Amino acid sequence: MTDFKAPIDDILFSLRHVAQAESLAEWDDDIASDILTHFGQFAEGVLAPLNESGDRQGARLENGKVRMPDGFGDAFAQLAGDGWQGLTAPEEHGGMGVSPLVAAGVSEVFSGANHSLQMVCNLVPGAISTLLKFGSPAQCDHWLPKLISGQALSTMCLTEPGAGSDLSAIRTKATRQGDGWHIDGEKIFISGGDQDLSEDILHLVLARSGTAEDGIRGLSLFLCQKQPAAVVSRIEEKMGLHASPTCQMVFTDAQAELIGEEGAGLQAMFTVMNHARLDVALQGVAHAARAAQLSAEYAAERKQGRKPDGAPALLSDHADVQRMLDSQAALAIGARAMCHLTLVEIERQSSAPLLEILTALCKVFGSEAGTQAADHGMQIMGGYGYLSEYGVEQVWRDARICAIYEGANGIHTRALVTRGLRAEGADAFDDLVCRLSGDQTPPALENWRTIRMQLQTLKDPTPYARRYYEMMSNLLQQAVWLRIRAVAQHHPDPAYIERLATHVLTQGEAPA
Ligand SMILES: Cc1cc2nc3c(=O)[nH]c(=O)nc-3n(C[C@H](O)[C@H](O)[C@H](O)COP(=O)(O)OP(=O)(O)OC[C@H]3O[C@@H](n4cnc5c(N)ncnc54)[C@H](O)[C@@H]3O)c2cc1C
Repeated sequence: MTDFKAPIDDILFSLRHVAQAESLAEWDDDIASDILTHFGQFAEGVLAPLNESGDRQGARLENGKVRMPDGFGDAFAQLAGDGWQGLTAPEEHGGMGVSPLVAAGVSEVFSGANHSLQMVCNLVPGAISTLLKFGSPAQCDHWLPKLISGQALSTMCLTEPGAGSDLSAIRTKATRQGDGWHIDGEKIFISGGDQDLSEDILHLVLARSGTAEDGIRGLSLFLCQKQPAAVVSRIEEKMGLHASPTCQMVFTDAQAELIGEEGAGLQAMFTVMNHARLDVALQGVAHAARAAQLSAEYAAERKQGRKPDGAPALLSDHADVQRMLDSQAALAIGARAMCHLTLVEIERQSSAPLLEILTALCKVFGSEAGTQAADHGMQIMGGYGYLSEYGVEQVWRDARICAIYEGANGIHTRALVTRGLRAEGADAFDDLVCRLSGDQTPPALENWRTIRMQLQTLKDPTPYARRYYEMMSNLLQQAVWLRIRAVAQHHPDPAYIERLATHVLTQGEAPA
């Protein structure tokens, strides 16, 4: 298997020129470049070499405690020691105060090198934002230094056996006792519910402080420290991400503190979830980029068949293989650009309805870009792609969850045909598409406008959610690639970018 190569040049091209991060007052190009280069070296040298061994060994539950695979503890110690856990935290709290755009680049590289470890570490930025937004001064003083230094990692405890996509069904009970609260109930699928990397763990637990009839208004958010009353009862056997412990947790009279207002738990949890959704989109981008790298290197070396002139051919000489290689690269670059543009819109404080549309599009398109590119990779490598040895099989397995967690993709496509059809968001999306396209018109624009109007007249447009998403993501990809083509000269290989742009804009290779 070829060594992981962090796609730093592509990330910087996307941030600087496609998303125009340089237009933001707080953007510091030298810092961005230094941080990404430095993290890329760390990912290539320390994180990526553990990816395959971690997949083989997996996390284990021994005597009620989770053991991470060999080498993960040392890697995390280096990560935390170098300050990466506090990348986006404000400097006054001991963090690096780096722009979320740079952090997005770091996160993508982390996921490409070792998705399992990234998942355990990368709920921390969302937890830090939640504390800064909703925490009391005492809660911030207690937890921020621990999270920033890596003394603590954090989890997000939402899912229950009867409450997956529908969080209004949460039954885990929070009871007020004196000044504090106690939690009783069962949570499942909790990433990093326990691990042996950090001394402490901050569990952000969504629990019912009101009655079942209160629905989501009866849910509050709690901080719950690692303690004997919050135990891991099992870790799940799963298809991929073997090194990431997916934990079933039982809370029995576990001490907890309310964070934010009682009954406003879901709203507070969205601070973590909004960060996590774009992060999941970038996990998909990372898998697409890694699949593209593995496939391109393999296809450039393996001799098979003949060229039209009869000379011996490499796999990459075959038109159909080249088509798939181009699709992989275009998926990675296009999905990354979508995420970076969305992050810039967030920094510009664009309207909430537009951000909701863009986040949904990124989540679905990014997560599916990962599996589609991995699938192309397996086809490109033939039988060897199906073997463990060449790595693309692990990419395929690890990438698949991205379409399921952080809101299954069907929920995001549904949001596009419900709230996303309202004028404020849809008009702002139309404006954004036109802005990105410059003086050109994306071929899919007029049809999207017509269908949007037709859907607005329907009482229940949800059966069309997937098809509407496909139209909308295809349109956004066309606009994004018009922008990418317009700035291609800033990429280290402009001709390659031009070719990919032609591939997308003329062959409609945006994924369905
Ligand atoms: C590896 C892994 C890690 C995870 N990490 C965490 C974690 O750290 N914390 C946590 O709380 N949870 C975590 N989860 C749980 C994950 O978020 C849930 O699996 C997910 O929310 C879906 O819930 P469910 O599995 O119960 O599926 P269901 O809710 O039963 O949904 C099944 C399918 O039905 C469809 N569907 C359901 N509702 C709708 C709807 N309203 N509109 C359209 N389609 C719908 C979707 O296609 C969905 O995929 C993790 C899961 C896994 C496998």
